Amino acid sequence: MSAEATPPSAIFHRSLGKVYPTAVSGQGIYLETKDGKQVIDGSSGAAVSCLGHGHPAVIQAIVEQAQRMSFAHTSFFTSNPAEELAELLLSQSAGAFHNVMFLSSGSEAVESAIKLARQYHVSNRQPERINFISRRYSYHGNTLGCLSAGFNPPRREQFAPLLSQAFHHVSPCFFSRDASPGEAESAYVDRLLQEYEQKIQSLGPKTIAGLIVEPIGGATLGSVPSAEGYLTGLRRLCDKYGSLLLFDEVMCGMGRAGTLHAWQSLGNVAPDLQTIGKGLGAGYQPISAILVGRQVHDSIKASQDVLPFVSGHTYQGHSIGCAAALAVQKVIIEQGLLANVEAMGKCLRSQLEASTPHLKEVRGLGLFLTAEFKAIGGSPISSRVAARCLDNGAAVYLCSSAVDAVMFAPPFIITEEEVGKLVEIFVLSVNEVLL
Ligand code: PLP
Repeated sequence: MSAEATPPSAIFHRSLGKVYPTAVSGQGIYLETKDGKQVIDGSSGAAVSCLGHGHPAVIQAIVEQAQRMSFAHTSFFTSNPAEELAELLLSQSAGAFHNVMFLSSGSEAVESAIKLARQYHVSNRQPERINFISRRYSYHGNTLGCLSAGFNPPRREQFAPLLSQAFHHVSPCFFSRDASPGEAESAYVDRLLQEYEQKIQSLGPKTIAGLIVEPIGGATLGSVPSAEGYLTGLRRLCDKYGSLLLFDEVMCGMGRAGTLHAWQSLGNVAPDLQTIGKGLGAGYQPISAILVGRQVHDSIKASQDVLPFVSGHTYQGHSIGCAAALAVQKVIIEQGLLANVEAMGKCLRSQLEASTPHLKEVRGLGLFLTAEFKAIGGSPISSRVAARCLDNGAAVYLCSSAVDAVMFAPPFIITEEEVGKLVEIFVLSVNEVLL
C-alpha cells in the first residue's frame, strides 16, 4: 500500500505507511490477530518471547507485584524482585560476574556498558582510553551511541556523522562466508585476531577502552556463531593490552543458544561486561541488564568518593520488570527448558536443512537459527518469503539486507510437532515466492 493510500493512524510508524495486522492475544507459541488468525511466533519477535505467550506464572508475578508496589525510584529505594533477580543471575553465571545493573532496553544497556568501561579506565587513571573496537555488520542498538558502536549500514547511514569518533570497526567473524578457499578455521581466526591487533596498534594500545562483540552475530548477518578460538583470542588481546572485553548478548543470550550465556557454548570465555535483554523478561516487560565483572566493579567502587558513577534512567530496576523477569527465569530453570532448546534446535536445524534446495546454509546455535538463500535469479527473496510466511501463519525475522536470509528463534517451549508446522509454512512460502 502506498503512503498516500494508507489510512490515517495515530501511531507514527503506521502513519508512515507500515501496515501490520493487529495482534490481540497470545497463547503458547501463537499470537492471534484481530481477524482471528493464529500466527506462530517463529522468531519470538526479535528473539524476545522465549517463554511464549500467556504464561500463567509470569502473569501472576506481574499482577502480584503491581498490587504490592509498582514503582519506587532507584535513587531512593531498592526492591525485592530486583535484589532476587540479581542474585539469581549471578548464581547462574558460574562466578563470572560480581553484580548486575538493570535497565529497560538493550540499547540502554549497551550505552551504559560503554560508560561503565570508560569510567573503569578513568578510575584507573587512564582517561585516555576512549576508543572502542567493534565489528562491521554488528548491531548494538538504535540510539546514536549504539549506532556508532554497531555497523548496520541501512540503520546508521542516514544519521551520519554519528555522535562519536571513538568507535572503530574490524571484520566480522563469519567463517562459512569469509574464509579464503581452503583456509582452516584456526588460520582464519588468526587472521582476524591480527586485524584486531593492527587496529589496536594503529590507534595506540593505551587509547583502547574495550572490544565490543556479539558472541553470535544477530540481527544484521543472522545468527553467526564465533569461530572456534575467536573469543579466547579476543580475551588474550584484552589482557595483553589492558582493555576490557564487552559481550553484547542482548539477542543471543539468556538461553537462546542452549546455554544461559552464548559464550558458554563458545569456548567458555567470560567477558568483563555483558549486556543482556530480550529473553531476560521474555517480552512480558521491557527489561535489560549489564552483568558486571569483579575487576570493573572493584575499580569503580574504589574511586567512588572522588569520582561517583553517574548514570541513571528513570525506569531502571523497575520492580514489575524485575518481577516478570524473575518469574521467567525461574520457569526456565524449574522446567529445564534449556534442554528443550538444544533438542528442538537440532530438530529445527535438520528440518530446515532438508526443507528446500534453495538454501545456501542453515547456521546458528540452539534455537537461534538462520536460513540463508542461494542467489536465485539475481534478486534477494527473503523479504518476500518473510511476508508470505506471515500471511501463511508464521512470523519469521527478516535479517538485514547484508544477507538474503530469515531467522528462526521460536519460544523455548516449542514442540516437535510445532517445529514441523513452522517449517511446513516456510517451505510453502518459499515455493509461493519462487513460483
Ligand atoms: N544489542 C543487540 C545484540 C541487539 O540485537 C539489540 C536489538 O536487536 C540491541 C542491542 C538493542 O536492543 P533494544 O532494541 O532492546 O534497544
